[in-house]
Amino acid sequence: MTRNTHDEAREWIALVDSLSDAQQIALGKHLNECGVCRNYQEAASQVVRALRSEPIAADSRLVRATQMRVRFHAARLREARERMWLVGMACVGVGVSTALTAPLLWRLFAWMGEQAGVSNSVWQAGFAFFCVVPALAASVLLLARGTHLSHDEEKH
Ligand SMILES: [Zn+2]
Repeated sequence: MTRNTHDEAREWIALVDSLSDAQQIALGKHLNECGVCRNYQEAASQVVRALRSEPIAADSRLVRATQMRVRFHAARLREARERMWLVGMACVGVGVSTALTAPLLWRLFAWMGEQAGVSNSVWQAGFAFFCVVPALAASVLLLARGTHLSHDEEKH
């Protein structure tokens, strides 16, 4: 047996499904005579069996896991965008309401301070309290809602 014959036999082992009858007979004859190529064929068929069973199952699991990870990532992005939107709306809402009500409240507190005869710093502190507390409450509520939404999505 020459080296070329062994190489040819190993090539045929790899292509065993597409060999001609004559080639299969020649290969079988060579495998009967040659222990080295017989070992090679056994090793090759083990690899083929292994490829046809577990790794493919593992591959489809990997594909599913990857798809889930991609979907999860997309959900997280959407969630983050929704939360940013809520925070943005909270800022806009607080800004608008403060801009609309602050001048009126300022005048109201100035008038009440005058009536009560308290110093400017007292009614100004009261004004600040009445302006800041609703804004803070609105921010906390909207932020809590944003967090609540994200928790709901994680459960799905
Ligand atoms: Zn051989």
